[in-house]
Amino acid sequence: MAHTILGLHHVTATVNDAQTDLDFCIEQLGMRLVKKTVNFDNHNVFHFYYGTEKGLPGTIWTTFPYKGYGVRVGTKGAGQVVTTAFSVPAGALDYWRGRLRDAAVRVEEPGPRFGNDVIRFDDPSGLWFELVGTDQDYREPWTGNGVRIGEAVRGLHSVTLLVRRSAPTLEFMTSVLGYEVVGEAANRTRVAAGGNSAGHVIDVVEDPEATPAVNGLGTVHHVAMAIATPEEQLALREDLVSLGCSVTEVRDRCYFQSIYFREPGGVLFEVATIEPGFTVDEELALLGRDLKLPPWEEQYRAAIETNLPSVVYR
Ligand code: ZN
Repeated sequence: MAHTILGLHHVTATVNDAQTDLDFCIEQLGMRLVKKTVNFDNHNVFHFYYGTEKGLPGTIWTTFPYKGYGVRVGTKGAGQVVTTAFSVPAGALDYWRGRLRDAAVRVEEPGPRFGNDVIRFDDPSGLWFELVGTDQDYREPWTGNGVRIGEAVRGLHSVTLLVRRSAPTLEFMTSVLGYEVVGEAANRTRVAAGGNSAGHVIDVVEDPEATPAVNGLGTVHHVAMAIATPEEQLALREDLVSLGCSVTEVRDRCYFQSIYFREPGGVLFEVATIEPGFTVDEELALLGRDLKLPPWEEQYRAAIETNLPSVVYR
């Protein structure tokens, strides 16, 4: 039985320096820091969540800045999200070309994709980012960092998964997760859940010769999809178990509940609930200002604050 995935929830990557990451995402890309917390699996490392005002599912980019912890530089390859695309208005791409070039960021032109213009560039850790120009994205952007409403990022557009064989991945995504194939071009197949629009789209790219991905700095760790309720999440989990898929228990991420599993091509998937969201422990106007810890980490707050690098941002 296919379950009802609503679209993308967030994308999480391992990056290098915390301050550099904040500067790039906030100052350069104009995103809002909606939560400053720690990696729930390693409380000596920050976990930054960026999004639009409320950090709604489908707008969220998250990073673990692992500088100084001996984490190797990763390799992009098969079994991984290799590219994360953000959505901007179609007419804003020239603005972004200029803004990025002014910041000495090299902009590449991969050409139109499924009817939308695209530019691509690397973030400071070497992650592959794209901006997709579309006039069909009606989500409210965040304009608090000097990027105007006509140009600001609307949220995630899509991610690109690289796999050696796309058929098993596509079969899994359509039969279990309720995705529909909405586009095919050369070795790229586009699937969508909850509508064929920005924030709902995943591209599966097949390359039988691709080297296997190696997790590390400058690579995406996982992509999370949104599901409406904890009950639906549990039903999906039961089906995954019955299919022989190795899936985690439900984990409390404070801002959502999550399960994790690998799709047949090896990409780490998370399915996360919509509720309770980022205002569960901070007022909307203050999101991202203070270091927020899950209740079970509060007893270690003093040590955690001492060990984390100091960062500044607006
Ligand atoms: Zn996640």
